[in-house]
Amino acid sequence: MPAMKLRSPFMFSSAFVLLAILFASYFNVVIRTDADAAEDRFHALVALGAPSIAADHGERAISLSLKAGADANDVAALKAQVAGAQTFAKNYSRVSDLLLDALITDWGQELPPTDRLDLEDQLARAYLHQGDVEKAAAIYASFLELAGDAVALPNDTRISPVAKQYAARLTEAGDAFLRTVNHAQPREVKGATPEHILASASQLSDLGGFYATRQGHEYTAAGLLAAAYEARKRVLGGDHQDTVQLTLMLGPLYSRMGRLQDAEALYLDAFHAQERAKGANSPDLSLYIKLLAGIYERQERYTEAQALYEHMRGLFRDAFGAQRYAVNRERDRREYINRPVSQHFPVDDTYSPNDLVSAAEYFVPTAKGPNIDEMKLRLAPDHEGDALEDNLPARLAQLIALCRSESGQSISLRSGYRSFSTQRILHANNADKGTVTPAGVSEHQTGLAADINVNNRFMRQSDRAYQCFEENAFRFGFILSYPPGNDYLPTADSYEPWHWRYVGIQTAQLYREAGPYNMPQEFLAALPCYQERAASGIFPTAGEVDLCLEGRHERLADAGEPASAQPQRENQDPARILNESAKGVAKR
Ligand SMILES: [Zn+2]
Repeated sequence: MPAMKLRSPFMFSSAFVLLAILFASYFNVVIRTDADAAEDRFHALVALGAPSIAADHGERAISLSLKAGADANDVAALKAQVAGAQTFAKNYSRVSDLLLDALITDWGQELPPTDRLDLEDQLARAYLHQGDVEKAAAIYASFLELAGDAVALPNDTRISPVAKQYAARLTEAGDAFLRTVNHAQPREVKGATPEHILASASQLSDLGGFYATRQGHEYTAAGLLAAAYEARKRVLGGDHQDTVQLTLMLGPLYSRMGRLQDAEALYLDAFHAQERAKGANSPDLSLYIKLLAGIYERQERYTEAQALYEHMRGLFRDAFGAQRYAVNRERDRREYINRPVSQHFPVDDTYSPNDLVSAAEYFVPTAKGPNIDEMKLRLAPDHEGDALEDNLPARLAQLIALCRSESGQSISLRSGYRSFSTQRILHANNADKGTVTPAGVSEHQTGLAADINVNNRFMRQSDRAYQCFEENAFRFGFILSYPPGNDYLPTADSYEPWHWRYVGIQTAQLYREAGPYNMPQEFLAALPCYQERAASGIFPTAGEVDLCLEGRHERLADAGEPASAQPQRENQDPARILNESAKGVAKR
């Protein structure tokens, strides 16, 4: 039939194409309108304060837009907004999916830092709601690095507002962590491989270290550190130094929380680990013995504490002989490398060291231009030693080199010598006085102190580099000047894990082995007493006050105001105060 000929295959196909075009454009219009309508509904409901209902419309708007050909980048902003609504609806797994999608797009990558940190914070909280502590920890650990020095100096005017926001978000997240981690029963850290588990453990330990220094966050800190400790113990074993490091962070926390039995168990583990690593007769054990004995004394278990002290005395005698420590009978110790410096023992405003050298010349890595004053340190040579090696900057360079290779972190000198007037200007210029020590009270004026940077920010207790300093600094003559809970500066809490100070090898070793735990300034003030005690082999007795520390309050009170603030009277002479010496020994 001729009519049939007209319906050629060509006609069929063109008709089909035409129909398809009509069909597509019709539906396209409908889809566009629908997606826009859904998005409008979404925004209206959010504005009305009904985000949970809004969430459904938002989701519809996303899927309609995608069907209409929008790509991930086009819907990223909407996804981030819908995630906010889903948070109210408590659909946390959806929240994390939406935010992850949005953050990996170009849109997400190009967000201003404050907007991006806001979304990342929401994402981490969604993970915490799902019980995924590891993923949340990964995000907040990155905040910790981005916060840089805002962690150590949250109110310092010189630090960028974005860095401060990272630190503030971290502090706020403490409560969210607390709901998810149980400080009494450490969670098992999950991970696909041992490497993943260890990476999570490091993040948990970094965060635990952060919360440990924040008042009111002890339980969060304990939960995070305990999880990290158990994970490292499981993967690396209890004897590994990374595991032992955590006992030194978690133990003091348990002790503060009154969990003395848990602290005891930890310190025992650490003690035995060190015993295996360093030998039963190593004087390096004294730190762990002191910690353990301190716990026994708090529990009034004096017999056990006494047994430990006897053990320590044995180590001390065997390893060195009591005569190792010459008694320092000098009268005036003001210029000495081992003089104390604190609000109770101020430095004269006229004092400046006469042997300052550029630290870089002794191969100390410096954070600032090597020739500025702040990058100088005292030479403080051992007079009978090698002129190039046996001095302060050379030893600091050796310590840094050792810890750089042990930790893999970059370590540098951030601040060394600061004159009285520099310190005064710094203090006066800083709106928040709490972050800068007043002139006359700073060890930096002596040229003996070194603030240490790790990865270009202040060193932190959770750094592997810090762990290395904690274990080795004394061998190079350095001690930590401002341990947790000290009262050396006028501000309330002046824990400074970055501030290391040279006192000479002999004094640093005596402090480590026989000095009071975490009381460096008291130790230095009573140094002649400790030296005499060491020379005559007398060691502390459990349950009794340390005789060398007896009367320290009266001595400290005597010190009065910084020397610059008022004329020195007879009873305020620092020399007399510094040399109040062998009182304890005389009484014995
Ligand atoms: Zn310092």
